Amino acid sequence: MEEFLEHFKERTRSEQRWLSDVYEGVRRQLYPLISSSMGLTVEQLTLAVLSKVQRAVGSEVTSLPVSYRFVSLSELTREQHTACCSSLSWSSAHYREQARKAERALPNYKALPRDNILLMGYLCDGPAAGASDGVWWVRDAGGSVPCEMLKSSPLWLGRLMFFPTWNYIPQNAPAGGGTAAGYLELIDPPVCVTPEPMTFDPGGSLTEAMGVKRAAELLGQRCDVQVCVSGQVRAISPLLLISARRFFCLILSEEDSSVPVLITEVKHQYWRQTVCVGQYICISAVRVCSLRGWAENSVLSVTAQSRLHPHVQLQENTEDLETHLMDTDSQTHTDSHSPDAHVTSHAPDAHVTSHTPDAHVTSHAPDAHVTSHAPDTHVTSHAPNTHVTSHAPDTHVTSASCSATPVRTKHSTIISYKGLVTKVLNAEAGLYEIDGKVGLCLAYQPVQKCGGGLRPGTEIQLHNIHFLYRPSPFAADVVLCACLRSSVQVTAFSPLSSGFETAGTQSSLQRHLLEKNLGASQYLWLCYCQGVIKERLCPRWVREERVCVVAGRLLDCVCDTEPKTNRKRDIYREMLQEAHQCPVTTYYVSWPSVVLWSVRQLCDWMSSEVWASLSLSSLLPPAATHMTGVELNALLAWSADTVSLTKAHSQPLLLVGVLELSSVHGTLQLRDQTQTLNCVCVETDQSGARTTNISTAWLGCLVCLRRCTLVMERFMKTHFPSWKHLDQPSYITHKHCRVYLQFCVGDLIIISPSAAMSISLMEKKRDQTHRREDGEISNRREAVKRGRDDDDDDAQSSKRPLTSCVSLIFRLQSKQGVMFRNSSVSDTRSHSHRLQLSFTARVTSLGDVQCWNIDPKNRRMQERETDGQNTEMEMHFVDVCVRWFPILHPGSLYRLIALNTKDVSVLKAESISVKGGVKLLSNPALLINNQWKIHTLTDTQSDVPAVMTVSEVLHSSSAPEIVSFYGVISQRITLQEDTGTKPSVQSVTVSKDSSVEEGLKVRLTVQDPEASGQMIQVYVDLSCCPYTPGLLPGASLLLNDFQRKVSKACNVYCRSLPISCVSVTGLGSVGSGSGGSQSPPPMMLLGDWASGGTQQCIVGQVKGHVVCVLSLRLQWMCSLCGSIFRQGSCSRSSCDCVSAVFQAEAKVVVEDGSGEAQVWFSSDTICELLMLDAGQWEGLQRHVRVKGYVRVYTRGHNMMCDVDPEDSLVQYLCCLCSSNTVCRQINLTCRQRAQRTGKSQLRKVCRGLTEFISKFPPALQLHCLQIHTDTH
Ligand SMILES: [Zn+2]
Ligand SMILES: [Zn+2]
Repeated sequence: MEEFLEHFKERTRSEQRWLSDVYEGVRRQLYPLISSSMGLTVEQLTLAVLSKVQRAVGSEVTSLPVSYRFVSLSELTREQHTACCSSLSWSSAHYREQARKAERALPNYKALPRDNILLMGYLCDGPAAGASDGVWWVRDAGGSVPCEMLKSSPLWLGRLMFFPTWNYIPQNAPAGGGTAAGYLELIDPPVCVTPEPMTFDPGGSLTEAMGVKRAAELLGQRCDVQVCVSGQVRAISPLLLISARRFFCLILSEEDSSVPVLITEVKHQYWRQTVCVGQYICISAVRVCSLRGWAENSVLSVTAQSRLHPHVQLQENTEDLETHLMDTDSQTHTDSHSPDAHVTSHAPDAHVTSHTPDAHVTSHAPDAHVTSHAPDTHVTSHAPNTHVTSHAPDTHVTSASCSATPVRTKHSTIISYKGLVTKVLNAEAGLYEIDGKVGLCLAYQPVQKCGGGLRPGTEIQLHNIHFLYRPSPFAADVVLCACLRSSVQVTAFSPLSSGFETAGTQSSLQRHLLEKNLGASQYLWLCYCQGVIKERLCPRWVREERVCVVAGRLLDCVCDTEPKTNRKRDIYREMLQEAHQCPVTTYYVSWPSVVLWSVRQLCDWMSSEVWASLSLSSLLPPAATHMTGVELNALLAWSADTVSLTKAHSQPLLLVGVLELSSVHGTLQLRDQTQTLNCVCVETDQSGARTTNISTAWLGCLVCLRRCTLVMERFMKTHFPSWKHLDQPSYITHKHCRVYLQFCVGDLIIISPSAAMSISLMEKKRDQTHRREDGEISNRREAVKRGRDDDDDDAQSSKRPLTSCVSLIFRLQSKQGVMFRNSSVSDTRSHSHRLQLSFTARVTSLGDVQCWNIDPKNRRMQERETDGQNTEMEMHFVDVCVRWFPILHPGSLYRLIALNTKDVSVLKAESISVKGGVKLLSNPALLINNQWKIHTLTDTQSDVPAVMTVSEVLHSSSAPEIVSFYGVISQRITLQEDTGTKPSVQSVTVSKDSSVEEGLKVRLTVQDPEASGQMIQVYVDLSCCPYTPGLLPGASLLLNDFQRKVSKACNVYCRSLPISCVSVTGLGSVGSGSGGSQSPPPMMLLGDWASGGTQQCIVGQVKGHVVCVLSLRLQWMCSLCGSIFRQGSCSRSSCDCVSAVFQAEAKVVVEDGSGEAQVWFSSDTICELLMLDAGQWEGLQRHVRVKGYVRVYTRGHNMMCDVDPEDSLVQYLCCLCSSNTVCRQINLTCRQRAQRTGKSQLRKVCRGLTEFISKFPPALQLHCLQIHTDTH
């Protein structure tokens, strides 16, 4: 050390300190690795280092860069946790200028901070001696770091180098915990510190270098000689690692012939970093061999003796791209070697002139090997994007036959491209953005170490890359896709820091790509899907490592129309075969285009669509013009819209979510991390299906839905005085909506099954196998294996954790509706009663409580479970336990499980305790604990309790007061709030819960699906229970425990009781449901109708004759208070309403030969009854306006009026009513107004001059719904 410092006596103290640091660093880190053959001392080596450092600093040779500290590689990787750059040669101004420029280009990123570090080491082709991995590494005595260079030379291998300018990029996730915690980007070429003795052995005479044409001929002959081949590099494959063997290929070309060269020798693999496309090279000692993996085709293969001789060649013809030629400026640094003849150069002319193979060989005269380096002349620069514009979409179009919308396929073009990486879209997926608009997909190449240096701000050059135009709606319009024949070369490192750098390990996405041999379009969709799942379902429902599996299943689901190509990738063919073919040669145009909406997106869309699609007038019937405000507003109070999922978006939509139960709504829900959405789910969509058997196994399943109905229900409080004011939204005082989904169980596609679903599938499969062939054990094993799936370790009994539990099997007899009730459980803390959601189910337990060591979930019932006695009991579901409501179905079998206990008494039902000497007569009851689980057992549905039909409820004389029946909704009307009476339980106030629709009472018209014309009105009070979705026209319902009532007019109707329960069993939809799909009402004979049978009709068609008009009333009514409106004002003095509606009513006798009926016509049918045209009808209304009210009626044989019989209007009406225009053949659809009134009537009948008194059955009272004009 002292001797060394002797040289610098005149230096300052600080300089001397710096010098001794450098000396110490060299001694420790560099000297131990130097070849002894060099015969250098530490002092000599340090002096050599110093001379290079000083030269790098530049002009001021005398000063020492004392601000730069010597750092060993291990220190660098250990201590440098942020990306940085260091340069001896840059001035601060230069650095700042460069940083500013880079930040301006990509404003989202900051420039790399500068650090002053002296970095030196040996350039090697592996992290340690003998561990070549084809990547450049810098090594010193204490450690090693991989590095990237823009251009490199084989001459640098194993030499001690000083690195003047570089970036260090630490990796956040060190791969495999190795030392590679980051990597270096060597910006300026490294400087050789020591003059190394010439160790380079040409290995084969270069004088015999043959051209590509000749070599190609040699391939055909398969002769076993070692030759030296030279040519231009046309393509380079990435470094591949296949079954522990690492290799890469080159394609050398000359004019139109080419030869593949395989580089399998471990020690030559670093060549991959030193050659680039367009360069002329010469490889010695290659031999011909046949490649098994490529159908025994012949290739050239390097041998251990091979040497790479890069030589400079100006290319003019091939690609109009800038090509960096290595070895140019590096030569200035490896000064001691420049005169040597390692680098051969073909004079450009030699290639142009020599066309024949022979001439080619001879043209390589020895003098041609003289190096000729005119460095800069080889670099030609081109505008980066010139290639893109020239590639208009290639129009090779075919169509895949089997999908609904034809999927277009296209051929990609192969181009070269130069650009700037502007964004790392998804490093894991190998997706980048170049120049702000072009996508780059590297997924078809093996992952590069350190991400290949592709950071925002990196300039790259791509060769043999596929140009895809609109391969996917989820990627840029132009996507460049690299395959195994493409090469990605960094031409300038990014001066920017991009935050996270992910280590290059193969992602599961890329593994999936390989396994499934996906096309580019599908892969891009997969990446989109993966991002979506990560965001919406991970980690709560999908574990991070399973995201890709789930995405893959969704892709399968989306592509199921596409025939699967299970062809494996043939990598050799892909890399080497002329007439290039690879997975991206063809691609689908914008397919798959399926969009994945989150639950929130769907909800938002529905919530906006529900009001956007609202047209008030379309909600009203034609008769709305005759309605008073009250009638009108009642019709506007509720309306609904249904949209099929397929119609909601221009692209096909897919919903993905997890099925769960809601304890707030007592409904099934679909949810993801963004939101939850209520669902109505039925088993089949055939109307009249009577089961809603979604089983518990579905809970927790990750499902996707392609087909379902989006339902949007609107609730409005409006105060429109009349229909004329509909365009004034100020009359809407309140509005809100409810949105939910409707689907059938059959439309659910399982993406990831729940544990219970796995068991259920496994058992189903096992059953099938048993049934098919009992003996075939192998089949069963397979079935079991398949059934288990890969998801659920729970399904594997051997792995199941031991959890003691007790269980009880029960069959559900019936259930009440969910409702807010005073909880029957006394709260020990406070004695105040609370309103809680609850329902009670009547069940039969099929045995005794059983003990288990393992949670049986929904596994098949064992014999012991049903051994005991059947007991009737009640189960109380209170508070959050009401979530079980949607999956409990009458007639089904369930297993109730209490986990973590061996105490069988917890599931024992108790008789209700005796209080104050009063004993309740009821079954023993069990209060369901919210920790308990309920599982549907597979062999269910044996005894579905019988229910009545609508007709039976209507006409059965023995019908009980409490009835259960089924039917189809044909109409739903909101009953106006009865402001006078408060709901009975209001005092304990139902919390302002969004689940409840306050004060909502509806009237449902329920039709008998098997007997058209049979319908019943059902009054349902929805004010004390969570809102029931799915009560839409067309929906099939199961109505349990409703009260059957008979009105004063002898009409049978039903109303809900607190115990009543409505279940939707078939889906309804607005538009198609109400009447449209129903069969027309039956044709009725009036005699039959009047006599009334057991199957008496409520609605029917009548063909008859108008005998006479009994009465006709025409009036103008105040639309607000309903009083007569006369001469422009309401007749009620206190009312200042100015709007009036015209109303009319007629009572007509219709006879059809078999009998007669009194038919009532209302405002909307009278015009047609009187056969008036629109003008006459208008005129009539105008005339009535003066008096406000006219009524004519039949007395004896004449029509008359009580007031003003001489009035011309009265005269006209009397005349009209008795004319043949009105008294004519007529065809009507009628509804019965009232059922049999019981008493017969005595009536006078005149026959000629004789008068009889006769007993008549009560007249049939009908209301005309429609007049059919075609009376034939
Ligand atoms: Zn390709
Ligand atoms: Zn009024």
